[in-house]
Amino acid sequence: MTQPCTPRVVPLAAPVASPRDRFARPLRDLRLSVLDRCNLRCTYCMPGDSLMGRGVFLPREQLLTDDELIRLVRVFTGLGVDKIRLTGGEPLLRPGLVGLVDRIAATPGVHDLALTTNATLLPRHATALRAAGLHRITVSLDSLDPEVFPRMSGGRGSVDEVLEGIAAAEAAGFRRLKINTVVQRGVNDAGVENLLAHFRGTGHVVRLIEFMDVGNLNHWSAEQVVPSAELLRRIHARWPLKPVASETPGETARRYAYEDGAGEIGFISSVSQPFCGSCSRARVTADGNFYTCLFAARGLALRPLLRQADDDAGLRDVLLARWHEREDRYSEERGKQAPGADPRVEMFRMGG
Ligand code: SAM
Ligand code: SF4
Ligand code: SF4
Repeated sequence: MTQPCTPRVVPLAAPVASPRDRFARPLRDLRLSVLDRCNLRCTYCMPGDSLMGRGVFLPREQLLTDDELIRLVRVFTGLGVDKIRLTGGEPLLRPGLVGLVDRIAATPGVHDLALTTNATLLPRHATALRAAGLHRITVSLDSLDPEVFPRMSGGRGSVDEVLEGIAAAEAAGFRRLKINTVVQRGVNDAGVENLLAHFRGTGHVVRLIEFMDVGNLNHWSAEQVVPSAELLRRIHARWPLKPVASETPGETARRYAYEDGAGEIGFISSVSQPFCGSCSRARVTADGNFYTCLFAARGLALRPLLRQADDDAGLRDVLLARWHEREDRYSEERGKQAPGADPRVEMFRMGG
């Protein structure tokens, strides 16, 4: 029988004082998008109809190399970042991702290294990712219904493939997976209890996410958002819930435990209960643009800096200056944007 691997222990770096933005929010988390391509076409993220003929994906030569990504990680950890999440697009489509994970996990100061994935490629990579030092996995799964799933994934992938991916992660030794479910009214909301029933008692934590108006292509409408409060009432009526205090500052999900001890769920309520006040997340796209908000329209191009000079101190100063001037709070100001504002960056480019 194969034994799950134990992640490697990396020496802890001395704690670093985080820079603060204009609202005194620290810089703690970095979401690195490693590729903007994907093998699915989720309608709320990368709708196939909107992509037709657009040539939206980044050419290979514009992607940051592994060395450039490692350099960024080193500079960000020097600024106090200790949580890194690899995302995309579908990160497991990036060639050599396991090697990149190995190098990031070995970087002093990285205390928490996570991956968000649609899970379809986990059967191939889960064991190697665990051995490389990946700490946590978040899997996206919107429905267990074999008819609803392809409606949301653009006809690609299947429920079975995702469940096989989850099983592979479990077999590799990953515990307490997060299962991200974007809930859309009239699309998959009726199947929420079914999904929760499947994961109750497994130790995995389903997080119900409000459909967000990120990007410009996903035909977002407020009517399709199911407010977390409505779901909470519904779920509580079936399985009584009690709130759980968050463990880490800046946590995006409001946590609840089943009173019968069958585990926890979370609500990510970016639309109905924004959490900008504690947002400590920075994002870098696969081509090296630095963003300080998921809904940003403009980023700071780091690729020229990374390719021009081997100057970590210069890079650090640029990031620091950008964080100091940060005043993003899109979700708290939703709907107040000036008409004609620049188009927002798409989710599959920005990284979720
Ligand atoms: N491909 C990977 C995956 O799906 O897990 C990683 C990238 S995906 C952009 C990251 C997360 O963003 C996923 O959990 C996805 O469900 C979420 N997401 C994408 N578009 C969204 C939207 N419009 N509203 C809410 N969540 C969204
Ligand atoms: Fe791909 Fe993830 Fe976007 Fe779905 S949500 S299209 S899996 S990047
Ligand atoms: Fe953070 Fe922007 Fe989301 Fe607010 S809207 S929580 S600032 S990413």
